[in-house]
Amino acid sequence: MNVVDRDLAGRGEEAWGQGVAGLCPSCGTGRTEPFYQVDDVPTNSCILFRTRAEAIGCIRGSILLHHCRGCGFVFNSRFEQALTEYSDRYEETQGFSPTFNRFHHQLAQEIVQRHGLYDRDVMEIGCGKGEFLVLLSQLGRNRGIGVDPSAIPERLAGVAGAELVTLIPEYFEPRHCTVQPDLLCCKMTLEHIPQTARFLETIRAGLDAERRATIFFQVPDAGRILRACAYEDIYYEHCSYFTEASLSRLFRHCGFDVIRTTVEYDGQYLTLEAVPSARRAERADKHPSDEWTGLVRTFAERARLAKEHWRSIVRQTRSDGRRILLWGSGSKAVSFLTSLGLADAIDAVTDINPNRHDHFMPGTGQPIISPARIAELDPGLVIVMNGIYEDEIRRDLAGIGVSCDVRCL
Ligand SMILES: [Zn+2]
Repeated sequence: MNVVDRDLAGRGEEAWGQGVAGLCPSCGTGRTEPFYQVDDVPTNSCILFRTRAEAIGCIRGSILLHHCRGCGFVFNSRFEQALTEYSDRYEETQGFSPTFNRFHHQLAQEIVQRHGLYDRDVMEIGCGKGEFLVLLSQLGRNRGIGVDPSAIPERLAGVAGAELVTLIPEYFEPRHCTVQPDLLCCKMTLEHIPQTARFLETIRAGLDAERRATIFFQVPDAGRILRACAYEDIYYEHCSYFTEASLSRLFRHCGFDVIRTTVEYDGQYLTLEAVPSARRAERADKHPSDEWTGLVRTFAERARLAKEHWRSIVRQTRSDGRRILLWGSGSKAVSFLTSLGLADAIDAVTDINPNRHDHFMPGTGQPIISPARIAELDPGLVIVMNGIYEDEIRRDLAGIGVSCDVRCL
């Protein structure tokens, strides 16, 4: 999801390499170099399309990842905010998965308990459909305010705890901070923002350092993406990629003391907790490690080999006369289908989110079917887009009486 107004989100030539040769938008000083390119990718992988033609004709853009030699930040230098859409057509929720809901519940409980958040003010920037904010509010009887242009307040009607929460379906602006929050939460959002330092500085400017509000951020862990060569986790809406080191550095530069970082959810999510500080760290206080530089420089070749591996699996399955189904229709699936260049070989995509059924995959046009229709398709191979859901998916397949190969990315 996204949270900033168009002006703040705008990449701005001056910050981006074309204007001032290769300056980093995170530390503002480091020189950057390109290391991975994918062209012709859908720019909105969570938008739902009602017809195949519309899905195939979706807006496309390019990804050219750069990394900063000063701070290790990774970003898409070809990103154009104007090509992305965050509206009520944007369907990103993972809230239909029991595995994800357990994680979400436990995370909210830990945050509430660790910071003694009871009868407090909690704000979430980029709250999506508001599920996490409801949990934070309900678990501590807190007052929640959520800001996100893709929020749909009506969807919370009748949900326990929703009466504690106000959702504002707008891009975040400082005027939304009418009450100083005790917790400011921002999950899976910063990676959608091109001007990362400007965004954090705006938040910091709105916070009173004396109040020592807890700041909680969660982003995908770029350390895992590069180490595991998870090219499916690189997609257009994610224009900014962080490691623990580059994320901490950005927060220190923008006037926060970092108090805790963790990697969670099978290594996929990087979390950071901070408090506003009276001082700012120097811009380039630590340089990226040799390990990180090595991962960056070998990534394109490793990704090429990983894609080739999956192409051969897909070709082999087709030549055996078996159908192929992807499980998971979100951004990873869009990225996988686009990267592989074998879209015609994949028959359909399924998802447990009913809001996605009877729509079509952006860019490649596969139908998104409900799990109840998998038996009709009779797939020989199910490719699971996120291995953390493997057990859940195997149980679901057994439940509908489908027996086939299951492989995880
Ligand atoms: Zn930098």
